[in-house]
Amino acid sequence: TREGDPVVIIGTGLAGYHLAKEFRKLDSHTPLVMITGDDGTSYSKPLLSASLAHGKTPQQLATASAEEMARELNAEILVHTRVTGIDAEPRVLTLVPEGGGHSAELRYGKLVLATGAGCRPLPPIDGDGRARLFRINSLGDYHRFRTALVGRRRVLLLGAGLIGCEFANDLTQAGYEVEMVDPLDWPLATLLPEAAGRDLQRTLEAAGVRFHGNTRVTDLSRDGGGLRARLDNGETLHADLALAALGLHANTGLAEAAGLAVDRGILVDRHLQTSNPDIYALGDCAEVDGHLLYFVAPLVSCAHALAATLTGNRSKVHYGAIPVAVKTTLRPTVVCPPRRGAEGDWQIDAGEDGVRAEFRDAGNRLLGFVLTGSAIAARDVLTAECAPLMD
Ligand code: FAD
Repeated sequence: TREGDPVVIIGTGLAGYHLAKEFRKLDSHTPLVMITGDDGTSYSKPLLSASLAHGKTPQQLATASAEEMARELNAEILVHTRVTGIDAEPRVLTLVPEGGGHSAELRYGKLVLATGAGCRPLPPIDGDGRARLFRINSLGDYHRFRTALVGRRRVLLLGAGLIGCEFANDLTQAGYEVEMVDPLDWPLATLLPEAAGRDLQRTLEAAGVRFHGNTRVTDLSRDGGGLRARLDNGETLHADLALAALGLHANTGLAEAAGLAVDRGILVDRHLQTSNPDIYALGDCAEVDGHLLYFVAPLVSCAHALAATLTGNRSKVHYGAIPVAVKTTLRPTVVCPPRRGAEGDWQIDAGEDGVRAEFRDAGNRLLGFVLTGSAIAARDVLTAECAPLMD
């Protein structure tokens, strides 16, 4: 490292800020610069899909401003600033003010990409209703959506994955009428076996959510002050506004343009090192030893290991079993997904009060599980038994 060149972190989401905190526990002096395209507010992103029913404003979700974080971390934080280029040889970044203006250059000693994930592009939908179709992946998005909801009653949700189901749960409890449309047969179908998905579906429906499975929105048009959606099963739905929760894709563009190895995410080894030895990545943008996980727990483990590595104690991350609580409070659900491509079968114990589903291989090894309702009591026991994601 050139004398005096800072450690630079691109991104002030949970990954960037977690890493900065861990780094400062071990090293209080090395210059630290953080760069973000947004305003750098520190907040817990998972709360975005569980705060409407509690009437939480974006200001209430903010835990600290960028200025407060800069002081706490003894860091320089450049807000509303986009990194548009990485020149890995002289180790220089190109920075451009968000919204345009003159570019600037910044030298780094070590660079960390914590650029997160963006919403997947929308599938083709006809009609002129796009302006009333919202997506939520930041505090700013949450603010726009909440503002648009004022005086409205009916929300059309596209997508019944993790975030879609959480918004259905939140919106219905906040008093909105919810229509939910998903191309798969039951909610959370990529994560839950049918018995558990139907269990969640029944609870959401009992609370008033109308679930339309195995179909897609093909047309979204303005209809008076609201929207009219056509589905490919022939149905027509009416709503005041629409929210799409169609999954995420890792922000890899900057890394790719810099010539770093990229697949579904920015490829890093268990040291969180990219194909360039001075550049690291963690969080939603990083594919860690083949694992691309859009959850908080893995990025916390990565932040811990990477802080040690950046301060001279080269450390590997290890992912155990990672149970995630789905914030469908109407039907508490825990998902501990098996490793991608794992082979096995679901063994299901379904009762009135909940479903316990265990994913086991031919040798009866537990590779993953799903729990709903009162079955969530088994979470700790099953987590202890479950095979780790990384050997
Ligand atoms: P982000 O928060 O996306 O941060 C990316 C940062 O990079 C931003 O600061 C952005 O400005 C910056 N950036 C990107 N590109 C550039 C650039 N070129 N120049 C400058 N800055 C740039 N996980 C769970 O474990 N449990 C949950 O219950 C859960 N619920 C969720 C609910 C919702 C609604 C959402 C959206 C996610 C949820 N998640 C949950 C996932 C979890 O929130 C994410 O895994 C985590 O927040 C990712 O953090 P990150 O820092 O990697 O990315």
